[in-house]
Amino acid sequence: MPARRTRAITGARMPRGFPVILFYKYIAIAAPESFAAAQRALCVELALKGRILIAAEGVNGTLAGPRDAIERYVAALRSDERFADLEVKTSAGDAGTFTKLVVKVRPEIVTLGAGPLMPDFHNHLRAAEWKQTLETDPDVVLLDVRNRYESAAGKFAGAIACDIEHFRELPAYLEKLETLKERKVLMYCTGGIRCEKASALFRQRGFTNVFQLHGGIASYQEEFGNEHWLGELFVFDQRMTTRVEEALVPIGQCAHTGRETNRFVNCLHDPCHVLFLLAEETERENPETRLCPDCLAAGWNSATADYKGSPARVAKGVQASHS
Ligand SMILES: [Zn+2]
Repeated sequence: MPARRTRAITGARMPRGFPVILFYKYIAIAAPESFAAAQRALCVELALKGRILIAAEGVNGTLAGPRDAIERYVAALRSDERFADLEVKTSAGDAGTFTKLVVKVRPEIVTLGAGPLMPDFHNHLRAAEWKQTLETDPDVVLLDVRNRYESAAGKFAGAIACDIEHFRELPAYLEKLETLKERKVLMYCTGGIRCEKASALFRQRGFTNVFQLHGGIASYQEEFGNEHWLGELFVFDQRMTTRVEEALVPIGQCAHTGRETNRFVNCLHDPCHVLFLLAEETERENPETRLCPDCLAAGWNSATADYKGSPARVAKGVQASHS
C-alpha cells in the first residue's frame, strides 16, 4: 500500500513561536481510558495545553505549546503505527490560546448523536480539487455544516450555512435540506472531522452526490488563503477566530446593529449563554446589548437576567440567607 501523503509538521508553514495544532483520526481505539492516560501524561511532560477527546472511534485534538514541544508530541503520536499517517494542521497561537489541558474519554470524538455511522472516506476532495471544482462546476452547492456562529464569522463565498447551534442538531436540520438531495453537494467544516460523519449521515438519508473538503477549511487556507473564502475562521480556543490577512474580506456583523466586527461574546443571560457577534461600539452605546437579540426580544434586561453578580441573582441570594 502506498504511503499516504502527509504534511510535514516541520514545514515552512509551521509557526515559529507558539504553534497550535489541530488533528483527528477515526480509528478503532481498543482501550480508550488507558490511551487517554498515556496522552495526558505525554502532554503534561511536554507542558502542552489544549483539548484531546478520545473515543472507541478515534481521537480529536487541538494543542498549543512551544514549537519543540509540539514537534515532540507529533513525533510521539506518529510513532504509534495507528497514527503514522496522522495529518496535522497548524496555526499561530500564544501562551494564552488554551488556559488548561483537558483529556477526556467520550462516546464520540465529535458529538452527532445519530447512532453508529461508518465515516465516509471515499468522497474527499483535496484543497486543490475542491478549488478546481468550485471554479469549473457552476452547479455545485456549497454547504457549511458548522454551527451558525462559526459561519457568521466566515465561510466560503456562496455557501449555505446550517442554522444550528450544535453539531448534534444536524440530523434534525437535514429535513430543511431535502431540496439538495439530487444536487452535487460540497460540504466542509473546520478541519474535516465533522464532515466525515455528516457525509455518512447524508448518504444514509438519501443524498447521493456528496463530497467533503479533506482537512477542512484549515487545510484549504494553508494552501489557498482567502481564495473563494470570506471572513475569518472560527476556532474553539481563546483566539475565537484566525484569519489570513492577505485579501481578507470581513463578513462578521454585530448581531444587534450589523456593524462590521469579529468580536464574539456569550449572551449575558446564563441560561441562554449563546455565542454572538457584538461590536464594541454597540456595547458602549447600549450595555443592554450584552444580551443576545433573542433574549432582549423575550424581554430580558441586565436587571432581570440571570448571571454571576446580577441584581436578580444577588437578590435571590439575600432572600435565601434570610429564610
Ligand atoms: Zn440570550
